[in-house]
Amino acid sequence: MSGHDEGPDEGFRFDDLPLRDEVLSALVQLGYEEPTPIQREAIPPLLEGRDLQGQAATGTGKTAAFALPLLERLGEGERGPRPVALVLVPTRELAMQVSQAIHTYGRGLGARVLPVYGGQPIWRQLKELQRGVDVVVATPGRAVDHIGRGTLVLDALQVVVLDEADEMLDMGFSEDLETILSATPDHHQTLLFSATMPARIDGLARRYLHDPVRVTIGREDAGARHTPAVRQSAYVASRKHKPAALGRVLDVEAPTAAIVFCGTRNEVDELTEIMNGRGYRAEALHGGMSQEQRDRVMDRLRAETADLLVATDVAARGLDIDHLTHVINYDVPSAPESYVHRIGRVGRAGREGVAITLVEPRQQRLVKAIERHTGQRLEVESIPTVADLRARRLELTREALRDRLLAEDDLDRFRGVLESLGDEFDQFELSLAAVALAYETVRGGEDDETELPEIRLDDAKAGGGAGGKGGGKRAGGGRPGPATDMARIYIGAGRSQGIRPKDLVGAIANESGLSGRDVGNIEITPNFSLVEVPAGAADEVIRTLRTTTIKGRRATVRPDRDAKR
Ligand code: AMP
Repeated sequence: MSGHDEGPDEGFRFDDLPLRDEVLSALVQLGYEEPTPIQREAIPPLLEGRDLQGQAATGTGKTAAFALPLLERLGEGERGPRPVALVLVPTRELAMQVSQAIHTYGRGLGARVLPVYGGQPIWRQLKELQRGVDVVVATPGRAVDHIGRGTLVLDALQVVVLDEADEMLDMGFSEDLETILSATPDHHQTLLFSATMPARIDGLARRYLHDPVRVTIGREDAGARHTPAVRQSAYVASRKHKPAALGRVLDVEAPTAAIVFCGTRNEVDELTEIMNGRGYRAEALHGGMSQEQRDRVMDRLRAETADLLVATDVAARGLDIDHLTHVINYDVPSAPESYVHRIGRVGRAGREGVAITLVEPRQQRLVKAIERHTGQRLEVESIPTVADLRARRLELTREALRDRLLAEDDLDRFRGVLESLGDEFDQFELSLAAVALAYETVRGGEDDETELPEIRLDDAKAGGGAGGKGGGKRAGGGRPGPATDMARIYIGAGRSQGIRPKDLVGAIANESGLSGRDVGNIEITPNFSLVEVPAGAADEVIRTLRTTTIKGRRATVRPDRDAKR
């Protein structure tokens, strides 16, 4: 490593916080290197017992921000049957996700965490509640049910968390929230998180929070930051397809040297292994490595025997690599400031640089926060198709051959080979074979014949009411109303027929009276597509799509039978 960079505010580390050893070691195991900005701001006042009103989107690390202090409330040794913490969330997906996260952080403490949501048999939840739980993560409707039955008793509560409060209000849970909050004991800590802070949320906060600290992450900073001359773009890929998407982007971009940023040490290690398996020369760099190991990595990078550095923010702090051409965010950074800092690694001293961000469909909000912060658009591009990769590889082959011809070096020594084959084959055929050999030396993902599904960012609702989580699949938060069950429709046309997401959204919106926002996840494969629409409208959408043309042709349209695809 050389020099010292203008790193983001380093602040404290997890082990500077008065968290229990069991929790700290869970964080080490997860590979978290340092707190995210919201964790930095929220955890200390929460540990002091303050109420908190936080404005933060999903993906900023807010779950750990409230979960870690909450786990400190768990008693040592034998614990009573009643929960000390209640976390309210809008959807069942979020209930499962948040309870899984708290379970992981609190495993060493033996934390008993129970997700409680509508749609699951109530008897199973009853049994668990009777046996004793420390933390309940519930959708409001089902929580009210249990409170009414006397199976969820709140008198031992020390902490109440409202997560994605705007989403809960949007989904019609306002009354349920009031019911729950008025059933809580007098003295407890209350936390409210919301991606947006409309007046209704502020009202709720004024009534139920006492002198809260306010934390805002991803807010619009005064004046856009200066961002260097860097071409910035984004690709949407599901978590599962990210390694393949990264490979394709690298093949098309053909960077001289690239740094790939990951969120955790574990992710760094996994991705390095995957990329080496795919034929890239990747090196890992993270805070768990000794100085000697890091120096070796940097030497290999400088000597250009490695072309990909996979690193965490912490490890990359202070690095200065001259020939770096590309910065790749394998994850959208949790704070716009760290995005700016990461991409500042390229485009220095007037050189051109490229910054590429892989975005998961539910991370729309983080992308918007970055755009607001930098004042620049992040162009969302389609992941290169197999045909794109082939075309690019041919182009690279052509460039390599041209360079070789222009170099006018000792090509003469190969003349004998051509001449000796000249009787058997004509010169043009011989050239083709030579090009084919050259082609094989140029990197390309051609063994990778399958197309990746084309997906798009989840739309934020108009007025910014939607949380990013759960996407179109807002299945039963325990209540009818604005929460919609989605049904999946099969359409027998896909990428090979030139279908793009907007064609499907267009056809559905034009023909069925739904708006584009009602359409959920879209998956486009080479030969068919799957679209989610509100279950109540599915039959009507299928009927109308059958009588209409998409991209000029009729396609098979039916309910998707294979719901577990
Ligand atoms: P959340 O905003 O709570 O949905 O968290 C987004 C993602 O960031 C989750 O996958 C967490 O596991 C991860 N995460 C949370 N805190 C950290 C941290 N300090 N370092 C690295 N990853 C984190």
